[in-house]
Amino acid sequence: MSHQSELIASDINAYLAQHERKELLRLLTCGSVDDGKSTLIGRLLYDTKMVYQDQLDAIGAASVKSGTTDDNFDLALLTDGLQAEREQGITIDVAYRYFSTAKRKFIIADTPGHEQYTRNMATGASNCELAIILIDARHGVLTQTRRHTFIASLLGIKHLIVAVNKMDLKDYSEEVFNQIRDDYLDFTEELDTGELTFIPMSALNGDNVVNASEHMPWYDGDTLMSLLENVKISADRNFEDFRYPVQYVNRPNLDFRGYCGTIASGVIRKGDQITALPSGKTSIIKSIVTYDEELEQAFTPMAVTLTLEDEIDISRGDMIVHSDNLPASKSDFLVSIVWMNEKALLPGKQYDFKHTTRYTSGQINMIRHKVDVNTLETSPTNSLELNEIGVCEVSLNEPVHIDGYNKNKNTGSFIIVDRLTNVTVGAGMISDDHQTGNHISTVSAHVTTAERASRYGQKPVTVMFIGLSGSGKSTLAHGLERKLFDMGRVSTVLDGKGMRLGISKDLPHDAEGRAENLRRSAFIAKYLNDAGLICCAAFVSPNLDSREHMISVIGEENCIVIYLNPPLDVCKQRDPSGLYAAEENVPTGNVPGISFEYPEPESPDLILPTHELDVEECIERVINVLKEQAII
Ligand code: ADP
Repeated sequence: MSHQSELIASDINAYLAQHERKELLRLLTCGSVDDGKSTLIGRLLYDTKMVYQDQLDAIGAASVKSGTTDDNFDLALLTDGLQAEREQGITIDVAYRYFSTAKRKFIIADTPGHEQYTRNMATGASNCELAIILIDARHGVLTQTRRHTFIASLLGIKHLIVAVNKMDLKDYSEEVFNQIRDDYLDFTEELDTGELTFIPMSALNGDNVVNASEHMPWYDGDTLMSLLENVKISADRNFEDFRYPVQYVNRPNLDFRGYCGTIASGVIRKGDQITALPSGKTSIIKSIVTYDEELEQAFTPMAVTLTLEDEIDISRGDMIVHSDNLPASKSDFLVSIVWMNEKALLPGKQYDFKHTTRYTSGQINMIRHKVDVNTLETSPTNSLELNEIGVCEVSLNEPVHIDGYNKNKNTGSFIIVDRLTNVTVGAGMISDDHQTGNHISTVSAHVTTAERASRYGQKPVTVMFIGLSGSGKSTLAHGLERKLFDMGRVSTVLDGKGMRLGISKDLPHDAEGRAENLRRSAFIAKYLNDAGLICCAAFVSPNLDSREHMISVIGEENCIVIYLNPPLDVCKQRDPSGLYAAEENVPTGNVPGISFEYPEPESPDLILPTHELDVEECIERVINVLKEQAII
């Protein structure tokens, strides 16, 4: 369907030719039905006369029946399909709607706005040049506004129109509009959003959608339609770097060998010197052929067939580029991944990666962090669930020819395919410097604690088990390490007893020796934490000053104190080190609990009566504390 034109009746061929030459704008609408998204799309279709009379009749009748609007048509009914699908719980992909004006053709990618549809939005957004972010003037900037904006910026949409809708319900107030604009600008400060335009509108009444509003004389900007028709999009395309992924080798007879494909970016001319990747062989462009004619030059996004002066071996999945402008050929690089499958992304699992026309197998080596799509906060993780977005290190089994996503959407992105089901499970955008941990850059050679924490998916802390000899410290420290290991976390045990066998072998078993042992241990614990590990420490720690000193070396915020408090009698009975028996034989006056009272910690993170709880229950409680404090 197309816009109404006199030409349709008088000269259909002229009309079709005119239509074909028009520039195409792909746009995405972000917002929920409640923001007036359906009404806005309906309004665009209606005011550009893209609706058939019988549809209008039906909507007129339905509007009266539903009574949602006074005497107006309920324009939302035009785009009702999506809502109906949602109500029935059918999987919703992206609904595409088409319309055109005398100037341009438009494709609207209409995706549901809720968080559980992040993957749909990412799919819809991937080849859009412009996004309309709808804000309900009554509610202002919401969590979902942030989410939509973040995804639009992540997907590299260069033009954002922030449509502040339902201005009629806010008395067309300039203050309301300005406040929303300021709020929006506040949170987008740290985002790379491209060009931003704000429009106050009422999609229901048609203010500033296609026609300028009479109600908002204070607004002197463009209407939505005028922006859609005039926004400059050709400059967004990459005409600089010629990238031609070969889709198919056409060899109808021995005299002709053509390489067919779509120009992903750049311009190619007859006579240009090219390099074929991955072979690195060079040649000269002999001809550029399309279905109807031979061309002198061609550019993105044209689909053409190239022939070369030399017979070099090129097959499907290879890439032809200008010899003086090569992409990076890499198997390890850094990407942002949107996960689209119910089964979580697992680092180390083999997936297929489709990059341009080439399939390669490989894996995600690690997830550096995930990004909360609502708050933009990052946090460490070991997996990406459905609709989650993370920054990951990819490692493929052979190199692919890549550019950064911001420079080149086609060669800067890929999809991830499950090898068994063949389902697309994720999409990746390659970061501009595509540097992973496998490449040492002199600029950021220093690995930070935060980077380590993010690699291991944990906050590195020291869990200090303290209590009398025989209270169960070693047992629980090792038990915790085992449990953390099984959970995929990285930790190690630092045991006072073990220290005494090596580093602190020289120290006497008195108060001073204990203090020194603890001091040395504190630095080791800190060192382990700095290396990203959780340290499960077991120390009697009977001196308050030494205990505090240890905590201050490690850092109070990195210490979890767990006090084991079984009665002395129980400890004596257990006597795992034979300490109590020895004291009875030859008293030293140095055994905590016997020679002096054990000073209880003032506010431990957890107290475990290990005479009442079994080891498993104790470990479970420690794990709960670690989870509560977001350590794991
Ligand atoms: P410590 O390191 O505090 O001197 P150990 O862990 O070496 O103590 O020894 C504690 C003993 O108590 C072990 O034999 C262990 O099996 C037993 N035990 C019984 N219940 C528990 C419990 N809930 N937690 C820890 N140890 C326990």
